Amino acid sequence: MNLPRGTPREVLAAPHPILSTVAEPVDPTAPEVVAAAADLLATLREEPSTTGLAAPQIGLSLRLIAFDVGLHPRSRSWAGELVVANPRLARASHWDHGREGCASIAGLSADVLRATRITVTGHLPGAGEAVTIEADAFEARCIQHQLDHLDGLLFLDRVPGALSLHRRLHRCDA
Ligand SMILES: [Zn+2]
Repeated sequence: MNLPRGTPREVLAAPHPILSTVAEPVDPTAPEVVAAAADLLATLREEPSTTGLAAPQIGLSLRLIAFDVGLHPRSRSWAGELVVANPRLARASHWDHGREGCASIAGLSADVLRATRITVTGHLPGAGEAVTIEADAFEARCIQHQLDHLDGLLFLDRVPGALSLHRRLHRCDA
């Protein structure tokens, strides 16, 4: 990513109201959006066991997601380290359950039904060029988890009951 150096920000914990708010579309070329994207990436890099973050998690109600699943054992596709503005799920297929956690929900994980093959479109903050990401396996799960954050949804909102929750030893977003 060709972004300026950002400043890590605090990751908000549920039930902060911004985490249940629908985030606003952004102009990916606007300087304040580029700065927000850089801060989101800097925060993600500070959270070694977290593979993705969405801007509402750092207190910004903007449609920006950051992810990097390269080190996750359940990853297959790997788009690299990316921040995407106004991401949109263009295609989704091959649904399956898989374990998720969230940096905003300490200590819990659950099995969540997600598509395991997706196509996501959006724009890169900065020059604003269009991107299309084909993702599968854990990267597809991670991206869908971040897209939910932009719509004010947490993974717990997709879990049918408390019995499907598990205590986690490690924090690992998505
Ligand atoms: Zn999350």
